[in-house]
Amino acid sequence: MRKLMIAPSVGCCDLFHIEEQVKLINEKSDYLHMDIKDGVYVPSYGIGPDYLDYLNKHIDNLKPMDAHLMVKHPQQYLELFARSGAEYITPHTDCIEGDAFVTINKIKELGCKAGVALSPSVPLSTIEYYLPLLDKVTIMIVDPGISGQPVNPQMFVKINRLAKMRKELGLNFLIEADGSMNKDLYRPLYEAGADMVVLGPPALWNKDADFEKAWSIMENELEQELDGAERKI
Ligand code: MG
Repeated sequence: MRKLMIAPSVGCCDLFHIEEQVKLINEKSDYLHMDIKDGVYVPSYGIGPDYLDYLNKHIDNLKPMDAHLMVKHPQQYLELFARSGAEYITPHTDCIEGDAFVTINKIKELGCKAGVALSPSVPLSTIEYYLPLLDKVTIMIVDPGISGQPVNPQMFVKINRLAKMRKELGLNFLIEADGSMNKDLYRPLYEAGADMVVLGPPALWNKDADFEKAWSIMENELEQELDGAERKI
């Protein structure tokens, strides 16, 4: 296993080459990150449950799909994403504030793993009471749904604190970093305690017009940046 797992954001695939790109990603990545946006919680749109359903039906040996729900009312769509083949369902903490336990338990009753995503302004204390129920925590290192933002360096500290909490509490949820990913972030994120990074165009697709080449550039960068890196937990 690589030091830092990768979860490409599959909705970033080039529509004209979608089949070959999805197949390559599925073969070589650890998780498939599915950015779901409703145009309300965030000012943009993403892929929907049909996309997951299609991959679930047409791709053999599909890697675990993580539905990152950047939607205002995730509770309405849990069954839909479970039926579409999502292994993880990851709503945002501020959208489940009033019914976090009900929502997380519902995700588990549906046979899925429960994640939550924290926007940069959300403190870790928000998830303190339901942390033992979680399979994954996604730390957004930029505000969700708006591309091209600089990464807030306080997020390295936040990830490190979360990794320390995980260790102290003897828990084993995954820690994922999401947003504006690029090669310069692999090492500080890994050292802080992140297990997995979400890859978008700057980290992967923009590396080369030829997707296979882009993939090998990304893999080399990942290997180089993590060479000699040590966890600070
Ligand atoms: Mg995402």
